[in-house]
Amino acid sequence: NNQIKVAIVGYGNLGRGVELSVLKNPDMSLVAVFSRRDPKSVTTINTPVYSLDNILEFKEKIDVLILCGGSKDDLPIQGPKYAEHFNVVDSYDNHAEIPAYFASVDKSCQKNKTIGMISIGWDPGMFSINRIYGEALLPDGDTYTFWGKGLSQGHSDAIRRVEGVKNGVQYTIPSTEAIDKVRSGSRPSLTTKQKHTRECFIVLKDGADSKKIENEIKTMPNYFEPYDTTVNFISQDEFDKNHNTMPHGGFVIRSGKSSDGVNQVIEYALKLDSNPEFTASVLVAYARATFRMSKKGEFGAKTVFDVAPVLLSPKSSQDLIKELL
Ligand code: NDP
Repeated sequence: NNQIKVAIVGYGNLGRGVELSVLKNPDMSLVAVFSRRDPKSVTTINTPVYSLDNILEFKEKIDVLILCGGSKDDLPIQGPKYAEHFNVVDSYDNHAEIPAYFASVDKSCQKNKTIGMISIGWDPGMFSINRIYGEALLPDGDTYTFWGKGLSQGHSDAIRRVEGVKNGVQYTIPSTEAIDKVRSGSRPSLTTKQKHTRECFIVLKDGADSKKIENEIKTMPNYFEPYDTTVNFISQDEFDKNHNTMPHGGFVIRSGKSSDGVNQVIEYALKLDSNPEFTASVLVAYARATFRMSKKGEFGAKTVFDVAPVLLSPKSSQDLIKELL
C-alpha cells in the first residue's frame, strides 16, 4: 500500500494524540509505538507497542518517526539519536535552546541524509508561522502573542512542588481588556502583568496551612510574582471532576500601518479542548510534509518556516490550485 508509514516514540499525552490523529488521515498508517517502558505496561488504543531498544529493526518499515517525548529531558537525547536513522518530527519547545537543538539534530541528519523536522506544534509552530507572516506583510507594526485560557504544565508542576499541596493545576488567562486594546489597532505597550493573569486550583494535604501556601505561590519568583494570581482551594472530588482535561489556546495579533492613519490588524486564534491532541494533529500534518520532502531528496534539520503549505495537504497541487478562491 502507498500510505505514509509513521511510528511514535514515547507514549504520553502527545503520543496518544498522535495515535488519534493518524486515524483522521487516511493517507497514513501507524506501524508501531515505541516506549522505554515495558511494552506490556503501555496500553494504546490499538497500535502494537515495542521496546524502544528494538527500534532499528523497523528501519525499513517506517517513513517518518514522530518523537513524542518531553522537551526537557527526552528530546535532547532522542532527537539527535533517532535523526541519524529515521526522518523525525518533534515538538521541541524549550525556546532558549532551539538554535542549539536545531544544530545537534542537523548534525545527525547530515550523516544519513534524513530530515529532522523540529519544534512543530502550535507554539512553537503555527504561532511562529503567523508571527512571520504578520511581520513580513506589515513591516511597520507590532506583534502580540496571548496564551490561554489554558493549563500550563510548567506552572502546574511548580505549584505541586509547594509543601502541603496534594494536587494542583494552573490556568493562564489572557486579559480581555489588553486583547481589545490590541484589536483596536492602537498598538499599546503592555507589561507582563497587563497581558495575563494566573488562576490556581489546589487540593491541600491534611493539616496544610492554606494562607501560607497561597502566599508562597503568589510570591514565587518568575512563575507567579510578576502576575496577578488567584488561588482557589478545592476538594479532590471537584479536582477530579473539573480539572482533568488539558485545554489551551491563544492569539497571535499583528497590528500595523500600511500608510499614515491606515491600520491593518491580522489575528490568528486557537481555542483548544485538548492541547496535546491539537499539537499531535500538527505533528501528523508535518510528518506528511517530511515524507514528501525526503522523497524529493531534501535532508537536514528543518522548522515550520521551511515547509510550503502545499506539502501539508493531503490534496494534490492541481486540486489545490482549483481551490485558491
Ligand atoms: P508526557 O509527560 O505525557 O510524556 C512524555 C514521555 O514520558 C512519554 O513520551 C513517555 O515516554 C513518558 N511517559 C508518559 N506517561 C508515562 C507514565 N505513565 N509513566 C512513565 N513514563 C511515562 O508529556 P506530553 O506528551 O504531555 O508532552 C510532551 C512534550 O510536548 C512536552 O514536553 C512539550 O515540550 C511538548 N509540547 C509542545 C507543544 C508545541 O506547541 N510545540 C505543545 C504541547 C506540548 P516512554 O513511553 O518512552 O516512557
